[in-house]
Amino acid sequence: MKRTLTVCPYCGTGCTFYLVSHDGRLVGVEPSATHPVSRGGLCVKGWNAFAFVHHPDRLTTPLVRRNGVLQPASWDEALELVVERLYSVQKKHGLDAVMFASSAKATNEENYLLMKLARAVFGTNNIDHCARLCHSSTVTGLAETFGSGAMTNSISCFDQADVILVIGSNTTEQHPLIGSRILNAARNGTRLIVADNRRIRLSRHAELHLRHRNGSDVALLNGIMHVIIAEGLENREFIATRTENYAALAEAVTDWTPERAAAATGLEAGEIVAAARLFAGAERGMIAYSMGITQHSHGVDNVRCIAALAMLTGNVGRPGTGVNPLRGQNNVQGGCDMGALPDLYSGYQKVSDPQLRDKFARAWGVTSLPAEPGLPLTRAMNAASTGVLQGMFIMGENPMLSDPDQGHARKVLKNLELLVVQDIFLTETALLADIVLPAACYAEKEGTFTNTERRVQRVRKAVEPPGAARADGEIICDIALRAGYRGMCYSGPDAIMGEIAGLTPIYGGIGYDRLDPHGLQWPCPDRSHPGTPILHMERFTRGLGRFSPALYRPPAELPDEQYPMVLTTGRTYFHWHTGTMTRRTHLLDREEPRSFIELHPDDAARLGISHRDRLLVSSRRGEVRTEARVTTMVIPGVVFMPFHFTEGAANALTNNALDPESSIPEFKVCAVRVEKLP
Ligand code: SF4
Repeated sequence: MKRTLTVCPYCGTGCTFYLVSHDGRLVGVEPSATHPVSRGGLCVKGWNAFAFVHHPDRLTTPLVRRNGVLQPASWDEALELVVERLYSVQKKHGLDAVMFASSAKATNEENYLLMKLARAVFGTNNIDHCARLCHSSTVTGLAETFGSGAMTNSISCFDQADVILVIGSNTTEQHPLIGSRILNAARNGTRLIVADNRRIRLSRHAELHLRHRNGSDVALLNGIMHVIIAEGLENREFIATRTENYAALAEAVTDWTPERAAAATGLEAGEIVAAARLFAGAERGMIAYSMGITQHSHGVDNVRCIAALAMLTGNVGRPGTGVNPLRGQNNVQGGCDMGALPDLYSGYQKVSDPQLRDKFARAWGVTSLPAEPGLPLTRAMNAASTGVLQGMFIMGENPMLSDPDQGHARKVLKNLELLVVQDIFLTETALLADIVLPAACYAEKEGTFTNTERRVQRVRKAVEPPGAARADGEIICDIALRAGYRGMCYSGPDAIMGEIAGLTPIYGGIGYDRLDPHGLQWPCPDRSHPGTPILHMERFTRGLGRFSPALYRPPAELPDEQYPMVLTTGRTYFHWHTGTMTRRTHLLDREEPRSFIELHPDDAARLGISHRDRLLVSSRRGEVRTEARVTTMVIPGVVFMPFHFTEGAANALTNNALDPESSIPEFKVCAVRVEKLP
């Protein structure tokens, strides 16, 4: 038996474990007892993270579409074709007619390489990744208010908080080991406020469970801040010494009396007052949130309000406090850090800054780099539908299931002049591709992932990739070389990290020789720096924290006569994202084998629906067939669907209304009709 220490490939908690292998095959997983996050524990996905690796569906050879059919090809043929056809699209339609979609499942080094390929080799800033769909609101909102769009504190801080406000996060299902921390803290006396209209596991342990209407977070948070100011509970010293623009916030929330907030949220005024007193009364108050906050057409406003609440109560820059966006994918933090974003290089350095452009151009050995920010992924789909975008290179993403309005996504991807997909399985998106490149999975390569608390950790190779599959980074470097660019020949992933450290101040002190045993948390500006568990301790990254008041706007689509119910979407404990890996893991698929929709018993009775009945659910975008789960988990008038399942795909229904600033889609609210099938 061989044991290889690596990082879990599922959520952003970043647990580490040993992959146990025998004769070149993975046979199990053992948690790392000493790891500061997982502390010898794993959730069910982590325990089973070896099972999909040797699945017979793994892609083992490149595929090229000939006469309408994907057929095996050599690497030489496939990669020559990729380069030739990308250039051909650019020659006909311009440099920005191609888009590169990077992957929060790939390593930091691979995300850096793809953004370098897009910018230095193909001359476009059209590079983005799935952070656009989960936490782009956080990146925009916290960069504006704090100067850094990352989790301010460490996961261990949940143990030290007096009060934790969890809003828009089903933590025990999405980030199970963080959920356990919060439950343990509650058992040890930490008081818990849960703001979520689903009855989640955390809410059973909460002192206050606020079941506010979907999309009314700004009204709720403005109401809470109104009470804090009206009752003189704000932290005046923190406001005076650490922040700016307080007067604008105070004015914006003046009218948000508990009664007005109650009318907008569907709560009792007393619940809002109680939440304000409980949170503001804490010595150490911590806020955790996730996609229930970010995935709205006003996601950035939601984040602004959360940042304002933390500053108003002086809860930033100390243990047991802070604003803590729980990042979804295992390396979505790293994907952002590495500049797989249309307007930023690695380390959040702006492409619009001529000095930074010059710095990267010199380091990469090119004469110039594009100055105009590229297209966010969600806007790229619209650009493709109008013909502005004609080619896409998608690495380790499955927009056919993960993007809103699946019918639109399918039409757009099918109509592209060129679609290249690089992945470990023939996903729903890969099935539409012109060229498919087989990639190694996390267990078959070296690199680093950065977890939600900014901890950069080593990923290690335990087994060989199947067939001719290659690591994403190797494929990207090969493409660069075939495109005639010699600046992407590296001795290995550690050399790539060396280049990243040289160009990226927040990663300046990161090197593979420093990452044992448990990684380093950025900012880590130089080789002697020990890493930073808590941000903004003496000063905010931007200097003073900025209050950015937000006006309440309702969701883009509300129920009406035709579509009378609200649909909200999310994940379940047993599956991950589009199910590409978990649905090929026997134990996980056995536990949650089918698509379903949760609806309240009152709605079920009104519609004549019983538990497990087959239902037709329709919206303005499409319709799906699924199974009824009658439960008080949801409130009357609201239904919930997970989006993991290709049959009964929730995203056939969702709305692609975007937040105007972050371009995140409003996955969390759309109007639907639910009918029983005969
Ligand atoms: Fe993996 Fe997240 Fe579970 Fe930890 S909590 S084992 S990182 S899925």
